[in-house]
Amino acid sequence: MPTSKLNIQATSGKQYIYNFSEGAAEGDATMKNLLGGKGANLAEMANIGLPVPPGFTISTEVCTYYYDHNKTFPSGLFEHDIPDALAKLETALGKRFGDSANPLLLSVRSGARASMPGMMDTILNLGLNDTTVEALAEQSGNPRFAWDCYRRFVQMYGDVVLELRPADSRQPDPFEKILDEHKKALGVTLDTELETEDLKKIVMAYKEAIKTETGKEFPEDPRQQLQGAIGAVFGSWNNERAVVYRKLNHIPGYWGTACNVQAMVFGNMGPTSGTGVAFTRDAATGENIFYGEYLMNAQGEDVVAGTRTPLTISQLEEENPGIYRQLDGIRSRLEQHYRDMMDIEFTIENGKLFMLQCRVGKRTGLAAIRIAYDMCMEGLIDEKEALLRIEPQQLNQLLRPVFDQHEKQSAIDSGRLLATGLNAGPGAATGRICFSAQKAEEVRKKGDTAILVRIETSPEDIKGMSLAEGILTERGGMTSHAALVARQMGKVCVAGCGALDIDYSRGELRIEGKNTLLKEGDYISIDGTTGEVLQGEISTRNSEVIEVLADKTLKPEEAPTWNIFDHIMRWSDKYRKLKIRTNADQPDQADLAVSFGAEGIGLCRTEHMFFGGERIDAMREMILADDIEGRKKALDKLLPYQRDDFYGLFRAMGSRPVTIRLLDPPLHEFLPHGDKEIEALAAKFGKPYHDVRNRIDNLHEFNPMLGLRGCRLGILHPEIPAMQVRAIIEAACRLKKEGHDIIPEIMVPLVGTVRELEITSEIIHRVARRVMAEQESGVTYLVGTMIEVPRAAMTSGDIAKAADFFSYGTNDLTQMGLGMSRDDSGQFLPSYQNYDIYQHNPFESLDQDGIGRLIQLSAKEGRTVKPELKLGICGEHGGDPDTIAFCHSLSLNYVSCSPFRIPIARLAAARAALMA
Ligand code: ADP
Ligand code: MG
Ligand code: MG
Repeated sequence: MPTSKLNIQATSGKQYIYNFSEGAAEGDATMKNLLGGKGANLAEMANIGLPVPPGFTISTEVCTYYYDHNKTFPSGLFEHDIPDALAKLETALGKRFGDSANPLLLSVRSGARASMPGMMDTILNLGLNDTTVEALAEQSGNPRFAWDCYRRFVQMYGDVVLELRPADSRQPDPFEKILDEHKKALGVTLDTELETEDLKKIVMAYKEAIKTETGKEFPEDPRQQLQGAIGAVFGSWNNERAVVYRKLNHIPGYWGTACNVQAMVFGNMGPTSGTGVAFTRDAATGENIFYGEYLMNAQGEDVVAGTRTPLTISQLEEENPGIYRQLDGIRSRLEQHYRDMMDIEFTIENGKLFMLQCRVGKRTGLAAIRIAYDMCMEGLIDEKEALLRIEPQQLNQLLRPVFDQHEKQSAIDSGRLLATGLNAGPGAATGRICFSAQKAEEVRKKGDTAILVRIETSPEDIKGMSLAEGILTERGGMTSHAALVARQMGKVCVAGCGALDIDYSRGELRIEGKNTLLKEGDYISIDGTTGEVLQGEISTRNSEVIEVLADKTLKPEEAPTWNIFDHIMRWSDKYRKLKIRTNADQPDQADLAVSFGAEGIGLCRTEHMFFGGERIDAMREMILADDIEGRKKALDKLLPYQRDDFYGLFRAMGSRPVTIRLLDPPLHEFLPHGDKEIEALAAKFGKPYHDVRNRIDNLHEFNPMLGLRGCRLGILHPEIPAMQVRAIIEAACRLKKEGHDIIPEIMVPLVGTVRELEITSEIIHRVARRVMAEQESGVTYLVGTMIEVPRAAMTSGDIAKAADFFSYGTNDLTQMGLGMSRDDSGQFLPSYQNYDIYQHNPFESLDQDGIGRLIQLSAKEGRTVKPELKLGICGEHGGDPDTIAFCHSLSLNYVSCSPFRIPIARLAAARAALMA
């Protein structure tokens, strides 16, 4: 067919390869989609003249092609494109790939758009074989070095490409096992103690193991090696841990990874060589200090692997001031250039520094906030940018509990401080020791909290990490896998706690130099802000921000973290268009919400007010009454309670608007169901047991969510809303007499047709007029409705005629719109998300395509009929940043969320406005 011909031409005409070398690159930092983050930043660093070993990036389009075409590559890629790029490298470096005298060696590295630390594979020293290793030995005059490289290469290639791997994470790595056996036999502990001859034997043993275990031969031909490695990099995009990581981080599968092929530089050439990783600022606290770790005579991931304990960058300053100065210069170059905190990887080859990677550094919420604030103060970025740098959820970390200091101190005094590790992820966590993800899952199922305790973590552990409250590791530094991932997940983490002695097989944890023996399942507490590890449970205490704002136990001037928080909030308020209200039904909740910045109450659920003490009796009396007289009598008892509730709430909110929803749930929710309780209730009301039982049975509904509830209750029993409206207006009149003008917003739930709203409104107006006449007072009030039944959304033009405001009740709207019960969705939603049917849980983040369209249509029709119609959203979604951005895009007036989410909502609303 002619089309296929066209396709081939189009494919082979495409640029799949982008070269880079110091001072000149075909790509740049903006090309992440095509080159992946690593490739784009290698190009950018090269462009600004930083010392980057030359190489080329094979674009993500090749990866997409690979998966779209049954794991094959575009035609010409291995025939022309790659050989051409290789030839350029060879010319630039004066080396030849596979040459027996002066061989070019390569690293082959994966790199997706978003960084996925450690999820995909990298192969170093590619191009080595039995011939070229001798050349490298000759050239460097260092046979041990050459064989160390070869040993590493065969190991990486055997693992990544030829797939000789442990069956599961509890088994030892087959290569590590061989290495350990040789070390044991030789009586040495460090890799660096192995001699050339030892390394040769290990290489032989590796190759044999590959052959016997996989049936595959280790390829001697460098070109074959390269093709295998590139295939493996693209293949690693779909390995299990990468898939899990993508799910957790909402990275779509179609992005694909790029593949970077780069000339090797060697950190393992001897004592003047080394390798390291660093952050341009402290990634845990955000402090403006150079933070990093390095190892001399080491290669690749030795630093993060946690097998040798690395030195800190401040030690580099002492031991090698020249290199340190160079590195520090690059640090500020990079911060000035990227205007952000960067995470860098570097290698020193015989005293010369090379940059191997840079990317915007992952950081804790605390650090993100501090860095954004500091950089704004330093003039590197402006307020708007500072706000855009902070993910709203990160504010959680400022609100997160810390240990109760007294309890912690007494734990320390009584000898329960077990050890101190690195403070890799701030916050306080207590939970049961779990050595595996399975155990963490078990513990969580029982409603307990888990602390994942591992010698070191690897990408296989991410599931366990996400389940755990905190993560504790024996090995690894601030840039170890555990620390990096914990920070990203916002988990409490103590890393590199060397005093721990973990025995997985016995399920035991011992502490060096102590008699303590802890078992899996015992309680342990970790302080990710100080690095302390303590035995047993310790209760947690509120954060600085909470102490200033809510508890008022700390003065603002003594609270530096609060000061930053306060700036961020004030900047947010400057740019946001949405008002932020809260869902609250008690005065103390309202107080808390106001101190967090609530500008009103968007949802007061009156049913919560009927549960306490004698109220529930009066409520039950009302429900069980035989006739309207009986109901009225009971409602008269409830009235004073309701009036006081509203009075308290209005007072707490001052002049801010308060939306009160009339009684919503089905009545049976207020009744007992056990025989004993029903007997007791019957006795209390002096009624025969069977009458009460019958009445309760009569109230039974097959589908209470869709039964007699919401406005239907008031239409059948007008005396119920009448009592509530009376309480509302009486409370408002009382406040008016005290000099406060309150404008209550009375909200009718579960309206589906305008008639329902009209009938209920008549009741409201009738009662309100009567109360005002009695009180000889006038109160302005609004009557509006929730939009939570799809029919209401579809007929919003009609409904708007009878409403002063709409509030989108997205919980019910989602349930009814999706035909999916929130309380039963746990059964199937996880699988649904696995199938990508819904990317997010639609009860947490609004389903914008479906439910969002209902809201959009409703808002538009409502406003067409009544331009001044007030629009807001209540329900769980009101505190979700994506939903908030959506509400901003529809120009709603406000979002309403629970008090603790208000700071997040303020920032999210500002970001939505700034990004629009
Ligand atoms: P990751 O995405 O897991 O960070 P990288 O591709 O950055 O993987 O590779 C891991 C490490 O391998 C790097 O940090 C660096 O130490 C080493 N490495 C990669 N490329 C080279 C190279 N060209 N020369 C020397 N070392 C390299
Ligand atoms: Mg890696
Ligand atoms: Mg890297």
